Amino acid sequence: MTKKEKLHQIHDLLYAEMGECECPLNHADAYQLLIAVMLSAQCRDERVNQVTEKLFALAPDAKAMAALELEKIEEIIHPCGLSGAKSKNILASSMMILERFNGSVPQTMEELTALPGIGRKSANVVLGNAFGIPGFPVDTHVRRVLNRLGVTRSQNPEIIEKEICSCVEDKLWTNFSHLIIRHGRKCCSAAKPKCKNCVLEKICSKKGVGR
Ligand code: SF4
Repeated sequence: MTKKEKLHQIHDLLYAEMGECECPLNHADAYQLLIAVMLSAQCRDERVNQVTEKLFALAPDAKAMAALELEKIEEIIHPCGLSGAKSKNILASSMMILERFNGSVPQTMEELTALPGIGRKSANVVLGNAFGIPGFPVDTHVRRVLNRLGVTRSQNPEIIEKEICSCVEDKLWTNFSHLIIRHGRKCCSAAKPKCKNCVLEKICSKKGVGR
């Protein structure tokens, strides 16, 4: 089986199990998703959603956020961790969106990654989920699961993204990433993969790795 065939098989098996996935971060528009993605670094989605409910009630857009004191943002987002760095990035990005992009979140990888606190993975989340522009975010789950499945040997997210995107049609990228992340969370966890219950067991190079 070629790598392309294997990736399509992985996609189809996960899709049969989970189908189309919603973005787990609550948001009303691209700006709110951008902020939620920033907050999600080393923080669970459930907690991010609790915090953004409070944050967006006070500042739903870039203009309102840029008007807040840094200390106020830091206080609200404290439960997400890394609140010092995250609050600075939220404020600086909001100001940049206002000044450089007239209050609207930009829609290109280059412009998104110029915003403080936004890397390639976060930009791909925003492009795919807010704008419908295909993107394949590679997080720690995607990296681990695809290595175990034997479709990459790289630990570098950018290389993994290129490898997968060269084999899979762009219309599948965004949901494929969601599917792998969900699979990594509920079945192929770092510490205890549940290989016996895994829909990918037959085609996995590392089945039984958790025994
Ligand atoms: S068989 Fe095990 S290691 Fe392979 S993808 Fe499934 S849970 Fe992960």
